[in-house]
Amino acid sequence: MKYGILVAFYEKIEATTKRLEMTDLLVQLFRQVPPEEIREVVYLTEGRIAPDYAGVELGLAEKLVIRVLAQVTGLGDKPIEALWKEKGDLGLVAETAIQERQQAAITAGEALSVRKVFDNLGAIAEAAGEGSQQAKIDRLVELLRDAQPGEAKYIVRTVVGKMRLGVADMTIVDALAAAFATKAEKDAVERAYNVSSDLGDVARVLASKGIGGLGDVKLQVGRPILSMLCERVPTLQETFERLGRCAFEYKYDGLRMQVHLTRKGVQIFSRRLENITSQFPEIVEAVRGAFLAKDGIIEGEGVPVDPNTGDFLPFQEVSHRRGRKFGVEAMAAELPVTLFLFDCLLLDGEDLTMRTYEERRQILKDVVRENERVKFAEVLVTDNEAEAERFFECAIQQGCEGLVAKALDSVYEAGARGYKWVKLKRDYQAAMTDTVDLVVVGGFAGRGKRAGTWGALLCAAYDKAADTFKTACKLGTGFSDELLFSFPQKFGPYALEHRHPRVDSELEADAWFAPNVVLEVLGSEITLSPVHTAAMGAIREGSGLAIRFPRFTGRWRDDKKAEDATTVDELLDMYRRQLKAVKE
Ligand code: AMP
Repeated sequence: MKYGILVAFYEKIEATTKRLEMTDLLVQLFRQVPPEEIREVVYLTEGRIAPDYAGVELGLAEKLVIRVLAQVTGLGDKPIEALWKEKGDLGLVAETAIQERQQAAITAGEALSVRKVFDNLGAIAEAAGEGSQQAKIDRLVELLRDAQPGEAKYIVRTVVGKMRLGVADMTIVDALAAAFATKAEKDAVERAYNVSSDLGDVARVLASKGIGGLGDVKLQVGRPILSMLCERVPTLQETFERLGRCAFEYKYDGLRMQVHLTRKGVQIFSRRLENITSQFPEIVEAVRGAFLAKDGIIEGEGVPVDPNTGDFLPFQEVSHRRGRKFGVEAMAAELPVTLFLFDCLLLDGEDLTMRTYEERRQILKDVVRENERVKFAEVLVTDNEAEAERFFECAIQQGCEGLVAKALDSVYEAGARGYKWVKLKRDYQAAMTDTVDLVVVGGFAGRGKRAGTWGALLCAAYDKAADTFKTACKLGTGFSDELLFSFPQKFGPYALEHRHPRVDSELEADAWFAPNVVLEVLGSEITLSPVHTAAMGAIREGSGLAIRFPRFTGRWRDDKKAEDATTVDELLDMYRRQLKAVKE
């Protein structure tokens, strides 16, 4: 097929702002394309030469393209640069420059074919290493030498990564369905896309084998599947109304990771289907050790975890790994990510997406052996609201966003946002504006960089009525290295064999200290917590109060005795004021 035919459609598509018109044009185009070329046409129409997940980058530098245009048209660098300043779009520059060349009676060679354009673009993307720059230039020169003005426009836009026809994936799905299937069969087209993330491949199968061939488009290791998403519901009550007895999982606040494993290697894809493997070497290594089968696709949420407190940290803490070529290993060693797994979609060639949640979760358990970096997402299956409520509190206290509830009999609906999975987040997020002064009553042995000292401190508020100290947080943030390594000296004199009799704690610390040292802490808010003992039962049976995301402000309150610390009553007061502020 001639590339010029494609370009004529692109001109029309570009001229319309109506999605329906755009779809109609695509339908006409797809019906006209020979089946053996439709895969290429679909990619080209989206401005690429491979499915998104393959990460094939054309992205030629604009300067380089200017050089090529200067060479091909004989106009020289300066006039081309001037044109670029004027038009701001290198595609339009190419169109104008080639037009001028034609007026100068330098005729183009043979008409360009889709195959030739696609192959040359492929060679441009693939060229690497020494001499690659020249190879890219040569291939682009070949194309532009033979291009008509309109063709040059789209070729240049494609190589600089700015095709921007505005054709979205779903528009192509609609057009493919309209061109090759009946209305009733559209879902099958969509599902094929959702499990393969490869519209070119779906088009190829549809055009060559018809709708019946779509059964061949299967979930495959190495090819990401669109994620199943969830709707939000406001209350637990509504959750039970919709799902009945169901599975509640912690809703980790990190990055969704779809991990593809074979004996040869591991690939990690994000929810947007980007290949993010190189950013997470610790996960690659950990899943290799944890996964017991031959090949498969497992899914979970990656969260940076403070190695000392076990606290979850905001994902921004590791987002600077993105785009890095070097130094990622060191970053991963310093602040590693832990993967909390919640699904298994493919195992040893078998597609599990039509199995129920319960079955998939069981299979996941059978094929993964937990290790330090790979864990199962916390889960509770219940129909009891009070139990679910407590589980929700635990999730929040540990730094999660809330819960995801999943219907026990639900299949994995790739790409769908529905009510088989629902998310429960808090409808408020209070802010803690005041600091508190807490007493250090215990320590947790440091790990990694903090080995040899206390990596986190167990801190308590003072309960005046009972004359005891009740825990309110595990504190591991806000300490410099120097400070951390002064802990043995600072707390050594107060170290005890056992928990101090006046300390009330449900957490087992690695070391106990007599309540003496007071320090100032600021958190993000005060939350209910089933593991901390401050104000236990005062707001809710079985729950105490805790500081969420606590941080040492840098101020030691040496002026305060342990009994001068913030009291449990004060914490309660702060919690109530916080609630009131939220409601107002
Ligand atoms: P949202 O982005 O608010 O629509 O929530 C959906 C996201 O929550 C998913 O894409 C996951 O990245 C994340 N998530 C965290 N924990 C879970 C879980 N246990 N099950 C499913 N998704 C989860």
